[in-house]
Amino acid sequence: MNQNSSESAFTKLTQIIQSAAKANTIEAQVQHIVEAISETLLVDVCSLYLRQPDDSLRLVASRGLIRKHPVVIPSEQGLVGQVMQLQNTINIKDPDQHPGYYYVANSEEEQFHSFCGVPLVYRAQVNGVLVVQSRRSEVLLSDYVALLSTLATHLAMLISTYSKDLFVTPSQVKLYQGISGAQGVALGTAFIRKESKLFDIQKLKTDDVAAEKKRWANLKTEAMDELRQERDTVKDTLGEGLASVLDAYQLLLKDATFEQRILDEIAVGFQLPWAIRQSVSFFSDKFKEMDDPYLRARHEDIEQLGAKLYQIWQRTSETETPSGSDPLILVGDQISVSDIVNLTTDRLAGIVCFAGGSLSHIAVFANALGIPAVMGLGDVSVQNGEPIVVDGDAGQVICSPGRSTLREYKRIISERQSLADRLQADSQLPAVTTDNVRVTLLANSGLQADVLPGLKFGAEGIGLFRTEVPFMIRSSLPSEDDQEKIYRSLISHYKDKPVYFRTLDIGADKPLSYLPLVKEDNPALGWRGIRYILDNQPLLITQLRAFMKAAAGSEHVHLMLPMIASTEQLDQCLAILSEVHHQLLEEGVPVCRPKVGIMVEVPSCIALLPFWRDKLDFISIGTNDLSQYLLALDRNSPLVGKWYDSLHPAVLHELMRISTMAKKMNLPVSVCGEMASDPVAVMLLLGMGIQQLSMSAAKIPLIKWILRGVSRAQAELLLAEALEQDNATAIRQLGQQFLASKQLLFNDSTQK
Ligand code: PEP
Ligand code: MG
Repeated sequence: MNQNSSESAFTKLTQIIQSAAKANTIEAQVQHIVEAISETLLVDVCSLYLRQPDDSLRLVASRGLIRKHPVVIPSEQGLVGQVMQLQNTINIKDPDQHPGYYYVANSEEEQFHSFCGVPLVYRAQVNGVLVVQSRRSEVLLSDYVALLSTLATHLAMLISTYSKDLFVTPSQVKLYQGISGAQGVALGTAFIRKESKLFDIQKLKTDDVAAEKKRWANLKTEAMDELRQERDTVKDTLGEGLASVLDAYQLLLKDATFEQRILDEIAVGFQLPWAIRQSVSFFSDKFKEMDDPYLRARHEDIEQLGAKLYQIWQRTSETETPSGSDPLILVGDQISVSDIVNLTTDRLAGIVCFAGGSLSHIAVFANALGIPAVMGLGDVSVQNGEPIVVDGDAGQVICSPGRSTLREYKRIISERQSLADRLQADSQLPAVTTDNVRVTLLANSGLQADVLPGLKFGAEGIGLFRTEVPFMIRSSLPSEDDQEKIYRSLISHYKDKPVYFRTLDIGADKPLSYLPLVKEDNPALGWRGIRYILDNQPLLITQLRAFMKAAAGSEHVHLMLPMIASTEQLDQCLAILSEVHHQLLEEGVPVCRPKVGIMVEVPSCIALLPFWRDKLDFISIGTNDLSQYLLALDRNSPLVGKWYDSLHPAVLHELMRISTMAKKMNLPVSVCGEMASDPVAVMLLLGMGIQQLSMSAAKIPLIKWILRGVSRAQAELLLAEALEQDNATAIRQLGQQFLASKQLLFNDSTQK
């Protein structure tokens, strides 16, 4: 390779991946990749070994190595095993001289005098090893090693998705590991979220390729009949000239390459809608690339045909909410708040989301509703109506569980229920520690549906009302009157109890489809929260008007500003608030200025708090975002979710700093992030002197019960010890030991 090596490596890589994608099955794709690598690197052998559950390495594809029988290298053996153990490349000549050499019997490997093995690493796990060998006694050039490593990264990702297809027999349980979104365990029937458009559908897999092919054959026949009928109708009413325009659809549908593409996608294991979508977008792109304007315009025909096929598929398959009263597990790629709202909540038992992380908003809502959720699973093979277990504690999903698994989960669910019933009995009692410290527990809310459950679980008010939620479940902006009604209804349910309304916090993972939000590279750092609102002030003005009218005469209603990071932002908001207050008084509406505070969630505001003493009535710490920004970890990303922990010492020390500052300033402080419902974190917050916590309502009974079993003095000692630790695991262990010593820790994972 020359000086443009990185560019040419990239081109080669793209070519290899693209040409492999044409193969019908994952086995063929992988074989294609190893062949292409050996040709590109001019080596005699390229082999791919995949890690098996017992850590042995199995040869799954090879160019150049003789395979008379299955090749499995026992764990920790040979150079291949060492590459896996060390998670590092081994690039040597004369491998047979190496002490770690392991001869694969009958492979005729002795003729090769070079060895370069690179690990396939995905999400910090080695899932295989890619090896090249050659007859020449030499080490592989460093540019080639770089290309090989890049290819290994791509392969690792591909394999992580398909390894089940490569090795797992259909009779084996379909167990998927994701991230816990909301704790708890649920059992129910899969209800796959519907998409209205072909290009929005999710990438779902199937275990039954033959059945999916049959579905395609039926769909094709049905579509052909329908197209013929439509043609006849147009001919009868508008004449042959216009009817012939419809011939294009029939011709495309009969086209063998269009059909082959669909069958190829199915053969790789995708369900029919995804296969249609892939074929349609492939041919549509091809037409779009054409120079001839007539042919270029044909992409519309192929897209129309795709829409028609999808329409018929929707009509003829079971995509409606399953009838009956069985619990449902909502399954989808990107589940939205409106998907949840559209399902009657008494049937919604669990959520399975292919994307997202533990603190994505859908997880936050699942927590608010007390519904177990698993996020960030990647591709999943699941059919509408299939039985599913959602284990929100382990972050696992099991499709079509076996009888013994089902029995075990049923037992867990019933034990959990009796525990919840026991806690529920005392849920209306206050949380007072053994040394008489009163902690106020409020609920986080946003959906109308969680207002009443909040009261049932013993919420002493609403500590965070996410006003963006009513906006998110509509298809257009709610009017001032609409908003006033929503806010008024909430206040009336929580009469004489504190309610904290947060102004709109949209952007990043809370988009509003009907508002212009710009696609950004770093949305969490971009145009969201107060930054968006200050650039779109009419939104804020309408909201403040609605809020002040609804709050008139209620002393306990507060207003909270999200994402405040500078004095200018705070001053601008306060000026708008004064202006709106003044405006309403002038209009003769008897409103009073509400208590105003900010969410402490952008780290830059912490140092500014002392400057804002006369501007703020309270602060509420949003630990979800505060942790995200302090740790530089995307709260939505399943890739980095394992690092995200609000017990990280950096977060604890900042919380300590904030609470000390607030005490000095005599500024009321509460915590309203998910941390407020993590038992260990609650102990530490109590130790810091924080006496108001707002959390998902379903967690309130447990946290009340825990608080009633400890003293603040003990919590202070625990905190002092925790602040001496340099890692979150040690802090959690300390906290769990403490809770266990008070018999406040369950082993059934109702706690983190
Ligand atoms: C937070 O960031 O901690 C918070 C409570 O707000 P949200 O989760 O809505 O961003
Ligand atoms: Mg936030």
